[in-house]
Amino acid sequence: MSAPNIETIVSLAKRRGFVFPSSEIYGGLGSAWDYGPLGVELCNNVKQAWWRWMVYERDDMEGLDSSIILNRLVWKYSGHELTFTDPLVDCRECNSRFRYDKLLAESGVDAERTGLLTPAEILKDIKCPSCGKKNWTGVRPFNLMFRTHVGATAEDDADALVYLRPETAQGIFINFANVLTTSRRKLPFGVAQIGKSFRNEVTPGNFIFRTREFEQMEMEYFVRPGEDEQVHQEWIDNCFNWFTSLGIEASNLRLYEQPKEELAHYAKRTVDIQYRFFPERDEPERQWDELMGIANRTDFDLRTHSKKPEDGEGKRLNPDSTEDLSYFDEATKERFYPYVIEPAAGVNRTVLSVLMDAYSEKTNDKGETRVILKLHPTLSPIKAAILPLAKNKPEIVGMAKAIKRSLQPVLRAVYDDTGGIGKLYARQDEIGTPFCVTVDHQSLEDEAVTVRDRDTWEQERVKVSDLPEHLLNRLKD
Ligand code: ATP
Repeated sequence: MSAPNIETIVSLAKRRGFVFPSSEIYGGLGSAWDYGPLGVELCNNVKQAWWRWMVYERDDMEGLDSSIILNRLVWKYSGHELTFTDPLVDCRECNSRFRYDKLLAESGVDAERTGLLTPAEILKDIKCPSCGKKNWTGVRPFNLMFRTHVGATAEDDADALVYLRPETAQGIFINFANVLTTSRRKLPFGVAQIGKSFRNEVTPGNFIFRTREFEQMEMEYFVRPGEDEQVHQEWIDNCFNWFTSLGIEASNLRLYEQPKEELAHYAKRTVDIQYRFFPERDEPERQWDELMGIANRTDFDLRTHSKKPEDGEGKRLNPDSTEDLSYFDEATKERFYPYVIEPAAGVNRTVLSVLMDAYSEKTNDKGETRVILKLHPTLSPIKAAILPLAKNKPEIVGMAKAIKRSLQPVLRAVYDDTGGIGKLYARQDEIGTPFCVTVDHQSLEDEAVTVRDRDTWEQERVKVSDLPEHLLNRLKD
């Protein structure tokens, strides 16, 4: 079972402290969200799992953490200033604003038709989702980069204009030579980065699926031209398997091959991994949306940021760069610009997909239905909850607190005595805690506790001295 819709997760997330609407005491800020006590743990666990898998468990990977605000020229030569736009259209009747391509998809317009007709001809038949009328403005491009100014300069000083990065990738490309020389890497190798990105999305929404501030986990894998296609396919398979290793059902994931007309200007081929974010929609095709993109960016980025490439008349294509980001192959004595394979995932969309996929309901002997979040234990915000069976017994409470303290250096443990045992179990099930450890009267005598499993509700008696190792072993399984 997985969540029937995103709304179910929105209410669970708010109720239990995963995610709150941002700036709520001032009326909120459209589609901005704050991660609460459990949400920050879940995000950190997703990022750690990705970093461990991507960087630590491989022999060909380096990490990086580049600035959010970069020299504006980075975005000039990457093509973002000119092309990082969404097509925008307004309803003349109610002034609602839409992303043209999303409006077409939502309205079920056949993608093939869009190639044959002009936007005006297509829009004639489309009703505004807000007011139902069919009175549209023309379609125009809208640049998604957030603008700001550095230093104490006037707001309209063009020299002070900078952008908040809309992707982490460019920070990796401009550091290619730095990483290459300091790490003494040879092709193929990758550079991974996790960090915030910002896009002034036209229509943010669907909870944390699309926001204007979000976090990305990106890796740029540098290969010899000619090896790019096979390596690309390997990364597509690797990434799909990573999501299933996090416990996501393979049947809720699928690969989507981007058609030529959808490809970004730098991409030779892009395959998205989509998740069934909208299972409630009748039309199967509309149930899916992007969780991650895996692009073959060719040598576009390294070449465009390099000082050497010239046009047909010998004029430098990039007169501003001071570096050549090419690679010299000692073995073949050739110099070239490596191709780049880029797996790019969103932290927030990963969090949403693991929450949706882990959601389940179970009915107990009394006929009460409870929510159980079957999160992969690696991702669970809390690994063990220590619960005293009698909170008015100082010896039991003391023992439970001592156990919590003994566990906290090795895993995230909490102590809770604010309810009866049934309620305490239910509370932990709902937030995905894999183990509840109960301290009872017997524990005072036999120095053992009951470990209860979230998914099977089975109970096991474990010696207190064995508990840290026992839990760590079970978390590894
Ligand atoms: P979309 O088509 O949904 O706008 P995209 O193809 O522009 O996404 P990429 O540029 O490939 O997205 O970014 C890589 C990943 O970053 C996406 O797969 C997604 O997980 C995440 N991401 C992109 N935009 C947002 C956003 N506005 N909010 C949350 N996550 C995002």
